[in-house]
Amino acid sequence: MGNEAEKEKTEGQLLAEKLFFEIKNCWDTAAPEELEAVQRYGEGYKTFLDQGKTERECIRQSLDMLNAKGFTDIETLLGEPGSLLPGAKVYQNIKGKSLLFAIIGNRPLSEGVNVVGAHVDSPRIDLKTNPLYENTDLALFDTHYYGGIKPYQWTTIPLAMHGVLIRKDGEKRELCIGEDPGDPVFTITDLLPHLAREQMQKKAAEFFDGEDLDILAGSRPYKDPKAKDRVKLNLLNLLYEQYGIQEEDFSGAEIEFVPAHKARDIGFDRSMIGAYGHDDRSCAYAALHAVLSFASVPVPEKTVICLLTDKEEIGSMGNTGAQSRFFENFIAYLCSKTLTAYSGIALRQCLGKSSMLSADVNAAYDPNYDGVYDKKTASYFGKGIVLSKYTGRGGKVGGSDASAEFCQKVQGILNKNKVRWQYGSLGKVDKGGGGTIAQFIANLGLDVLDCGIPVLSMHSPFEVISKIDLYTTYKGYIAFLREV
Ligand code: MN
Ligand code: MN
Repeated sequence: MGNEAEKEKTEGQLLAEKLFFEIKNCWDTAAPEELEAVQRYGEGYKTFLDQGKTERECIRQSLDMLNAKGFTDIETLLGEPGSLLPGAKVYQNIKGKSLLFAIIGNRPLSEGVNVVGAHVDSPRIDLKTNPLYENTDLALFDTHYYGGIKPYQWTTIPLAMHGVLIRKDGEKRELCIGEDPGDPVFTITDLLPHLAREQMQKKAAEFFDGEDLDILAGSRPYKDPKAKDRVKLNLLNLLYEQYGIQEEDFSGAEIEFVPAHKARDIGFDRSMIGAYGHDDRSCAYAALHAVLSFASVPVPEKTVICLLTDKEEIGSMGNTGAQSRFFENFIAYLCSKTLTAYSGIALRQCLGKSSMLSADVNAAYDPNYDGVYDKKTASYFGKGIVLSKYTGRGGKVGGSDASAEFCQKVQGILNKNKVRWQYGSLGKVDKGGGGTIAQFIANLGLDVLDCGIPVLSMHSPFEVISKIDLYTTYKGYIAFLREV
């Protein structure tokens, strides 16, 4: 805007410019070279999504990256106390489903660490313990869904089968069927409209019963007409020939059915990505790369840590969820190997002085569903990283509420580094709600703020994000980690 226009502004207009809080669109404010970086970053992310459709696959990919960057498994380090020096790169693999890694900074751990934590599990369809059955010459898998899904969204789409079975002899078999173009896929059927008169009268919540989400797995009988359950038998025979697995092996197995489609650009302008699992792999990918960016530059001031966790979608329970003690244990490991005199107090001191961004997605404003959003506090595509001061439902119950001091600290860091940010809360008051891992880490004494990427169609088989929000979030995490 030239001087002419500037002169024409009234006093009230100028005052408004000074006092109002206006959030600009990142596509408008980004430099040309940054726009190229946004597209490149999106390409790497799509590959990460296509190769990581389960929590185990995400952790395996992350471990590959850590090994390539020279990280060491902290459990193999037998050095004296104080043997872990600034610049050291270590990780701890939590049962192949969660992961912690750190780059040791110049300052002692008693001054606190900077953490970015995300989850790598996503809603999906799990198999029950005795899943395979036959009905009218069709073989089906009985399922129990994982996480908060709208069941009808998971019918009539191609599904891929991923997972782990442990055979009777203890041998592990990993399955991944439906990802290669030549693979068969699976699907959950739905009723034709012609016969759906009754179904269409039902409320959406009853439209598809969780128990009815059974997966079509085969229809060709085994050749011996005297055998029973011949379709099921034929299928088990194929599985036995190919993987050496028997029906019993399904009992304790972890088999996850996920959308078989790949991540794709969305829109004429290729500004968005549609994929399965943006919640929360978009933040996990950004967190992973943000911490890794300190692996090849001068040693960070404070120790930087990435936390990738499982089980967020079902409440962060269990020994691979954020409610377990693995995060605390990892900090204890770091304290014991960086401080010459380790004590329980040093661990508590470190936790109390540390900060974390709970890296998780937020519900982007959706023009199709205007009624549930409060437009003033919603997050929007293209407006950058989303900060959520609090989560929870109805009266903030069950949420984590970051302090004004910590919120301002993060805003200041982002401003200083020219990272565009917006606040976002989950819909209108009393329209619903949700939580993240923030509260569990905050319980240990850390300052924690939820901070991530706006998503459309969250928890559906095909979620959508904006490429520039993804990139801005990555930049935001780096800025936060660098801070002392
Ligand atoms: Mn999430
Ligand atoms: Mn979620």
